[in-house]
Amino acid sequence: MTNAIWFDPSLMLIGDTWRAAQNTLTLVNPSDGSPLADIAAGQSGDIDDAVCAAQSALDGEWGRMSATERGRILTDIGRAVLERVDELAEIEAHDVGKPLSQARADALALARYMEFYGGAADKVMGETIPYLDGYTVYTLREPHGVTGHIVPWNYPMQIIGRSVGAALAMGNACVLKPAEEACLTALAFAHIAREAGLPDGALNVVPGRGPEAGAALAAHPGVQHISFTGSVRTGALVQQAAGANVVPVTLELGGKSPQVVFEDADLDAALPFLVNAGIQNAGQTCSASSRILVQRSVYKDVRERMAEAYRSLTVGPAMDDLRVGPLISTRQKQIVEGFLAKGADLNIAAQGKLQIAPDTGAYVLPTLFDDVLADHSLARDEIFGPVQVLIPFDTEEQAINIANGTDYGLVASIWTANGARQMRLAKKLRAGQVFINNYGAGGGVELPFGGVGKSGHGREKGFEALYGFSTLKTVAAHHG
Ligand code: NAD
Repeated sequence: MTNAIWFDPSLMLIGDTWRAAQNTLTLVNPSDGSPLADIAAGQSGDIDDAVCAAQSALDGEWGRMSATERGRILTDIGRAVLERVDELAEIEAHDVGKPLSQARADALALARYMEFYGGAADKVMGETIPYLDGYTVYTLREPHGVTGHIVPWNYPMQIIGRSVGAALAMGNACVLKPAEEACLTALAFAHIAREAGLPDGALNVVPGRGPEAGAALAAHPGVQHISFTGSVRTGALVQQAAGANVVPVTLELGGKSPQVVFEDADLDAALPFLVNAGIQNAGQTCSASSRILVQRSVYKDVRERMAEAYRSLTVGPAMDDLRVGPLISTRQKQIVEGFLAKGADLNIAAQGKLQIAPDTGAYVLPTLFDDVLADHSLARDEIFGPVQVLIPFDTEEQAINIANGTDYGLVASIWTANGARQMRLAKKLRAGQVFINNYGAGGGVELPFGGVGKSGHGREKGFEALYGFSTLKTVAAHHG
């Protein structure tokens, strides 16, 4: 176990108590395959207790707080996270295998979510509605109640920030089920939040296996909203379980997000985004850009520039802070290697290289495939590894058809100097976010995020999330 972990990682937080579970699971450091920490393997009984503790918080101090008081606490949590950014980054680097500077960026984002939702908490307003003579009608935004948050391993801090932050701002009480592969920053965050003044039961954290703790949370009749981020397969199960209780769900699932490069694009500006959006967090990003569509007249030029960038990519342990770290697990490595094998009939434009790294780590080389047909599995299926495909196109219409030709619709980007084309494609591309001459826009917490199709539904981030984590009540008073 690394010295960076300053809390007991085997405990779960339920109400005011950090307590042990009946069984534990062992987390593995993906950089070298060594055991990192034993964590609680929460069961359905623990989820029952956590939901109960959350309901007590709503019936008690937390439920009585004004929006301003809640916002002040979130702001204080944000400040406390900022003071511990380096510690959080180190923990995340060990747990997720994320290069240290990328883990640090996630910790900063967590702080920023707390600041943003702290400031927003008392700025969500209802409205008055002009109505019949003798009536006054207005709306109230109210919390759902107990919200469940099922979080994956790829961006624990960012996903906790955007979902738990918005839910708390609206006055919900949260039960958080982090991923069994990486849950240490979820626990660290809960410690920090309590030290910063979050009342008992407003946030409960129950680590555990998905089919046990996760399934119990999704199906719990005491939960009034579920926020899920992860795979399509599990998202569908979560939606089914929540459906039995007629409870709303937000699903943030995968993607196969394209960047569309036209011949008039500023290639110098585009190049870093084309590559980085595919290899950040070793490609294990729901909004990774895994398809690069390039107009044929500049195809060769783009391929050569990207290939050169790929050849300079170095892969190694997270604490070495190279461009690419290991994947989360050897299981994920096998999945990605399976996709690479499916590309055996394709040309590889270039690959990155492995620095000195233990062969017990979950490393794969970043790989850029050349001239891939749009219906090839590598161009349609989410890989969740540092793999990108180049796809040539001739016309704008063809580009739109290819870009929209997968089951997913999370993010898309257009590289062109032609203003009319920018506007046309922004409307025609099937995605929850469209970027023009950039990719990701710096990931701002202010920007609503979510997908269409198999990428999911509902929106997190920005003000939009506050509407998702609340329910609207209409009050009609008859006064004559
Ligand atoms: P997953 O969907 O199985 O896990 C995500 C979360 O759901 C984890 O907390 C997990 O414990 C929980 N979970 C698992 N089974 C559950 C169940 N039956 N009921 C309720 N919760 C459950 O994802 P994974 O197995 O970690 O990764 C598999 C694939 O999912 C990846 O290869 C990738 O394609 C995709 N993925 C996408 C994202 C994303 O941000 N969109 C994140 C992680 C993984």
